[in-house]
Amino acid sequence: MIQKKKTSAKVDQFTESVIREMTRVAMKYGAVNLAQGFPDFSCPSELKQAACDAIAEDINQYALTWGDRSFRHAIAQKVRWYLGLDVDPERQITVTCGSTEAMAATMLATIDPGDEVIIFEPFYENYAPDAILANATPRYVTLHPPHWTFDQAELRQAFNEHTKAIIINTPHNPTGKVFTREELALIAELCHQWDALVFTDEIYEHILYDDRKHIAMATLPGMEERTVTINGLSKTYSITGWRVGYILANPELTEAIRKVHDFLTIGAPAPLQRAGVTAMQFPIDYYNNLAALYHEKRSTFLQILDQIEIPYSIPQGAYYVMADISQFGYSSSLEFAYYLSQEIGVAAVPGSSFFRQPEDGRSLIRFCFSKRPETLQAARERLLQLRQIVRA
Ligand code: GLN
Repeated sequence: MIQKKKTSAKVDQFTESVIREMTRVAMKYGAVNLAQGFPDFSCPSELKQAACDAIAEDINQYALTWGDRSFRHAIAQKVRWYLGLDVDPERQITVTCGSTEAMAATMLATIDPGDEVIIFEPFYENYAPDAILANATPRYVTLHPPHWTFDQAELRQAFNEHTKAIIINTPHNPTGKVFTREELALIAELCHQWDALVFTDEIYEHILYDDRKHIAMATLPGMEERTVTINGLSKTYSITGWRVGYILANPELTEAIRKVHDFLTIGAPAPLQRAGVTAMQFPIDYYNNLAALYHEKRSTFLQILDQIEIPYSIPQGAYYVMADISQFGYSSSLEFAYYLSQEIGVAAVPGSSFFRQPEDGRSLIRFCFSKRPETLQAARERLLQLRQIVRA
């Protein structure tokens, strides 16, 4: 009798998401969840109302597969004032199930076997599996602590005739790095030289500290044509469970991406897309307040880390901080993360989740501070126990 392996070679190449695993661990041990990146506070009430209204108004069947028309037009207006990008909502926007689907659909629509995709390491854990599922060969370029800068020569070396694309995530998860204009310009120059695309995940575009400004790769000279800009409502509007994302790309790429998206998911939830119109029309004050709110949360959490004497790199954007746990003498960050959840009562993501080789993230742990003051206070009380721990 013949016997076949029931699962694919592709799935053997990656593991389940450790970020989501840590949320399950937090629930099991009743730990304060500073692992998975989602706010534990309410989204704006106008959005709740808009979603309820959309359902009541019978927006309950499929939206157009590439996205509700009014939502796409609202996205085009918002990116015009915020990013300075002129995007045709009819031919250059695709609405997806979160930016997670956006990145997967983009890769599936553009990559052929043998194509290389450059990924900065540490990386958000989805990019490598996305590359594997799309048959891309990932190539990694290191972001060096403490400022998470890359070596120009190393980046140049990563590009070659097989390079199809480079993935950028700015502000960056997990390090909080915000790519500078000079860094983006060098990447752009190399993309021109090697005829490569940029897939840019800008989901944290509004969460910036110390008056930093978001620079969209697509706005650099000549880059609109080669950039696929990925974004979504999750982080900016505190609605990670809605699963509404979007992609901006030139018409040719959009056509290919829309085909993949159509057969992957047909579309994101119609009433939530319609409610997204309200989000896109929020005034500038909303974004200023959001940045101020996160500034406060960052200060609170960095103060906690100072109190327990754990070194960290100050995030420039996004809502995570990478902290150095080497003083605790654990041989793996996963082990430390389990210890932290079970014994101390705070869940965080082990640094190893963001590296190919777990050892490279051994001394790091990522905390998410997108939490209510009382949650951060509860975390503080528990984390203070670490002061009593004999350090390595
Ligand atoms: N982006 C969030 C994080 O990095 C959540 C995504 C996820 O569930 N993997 O934690």
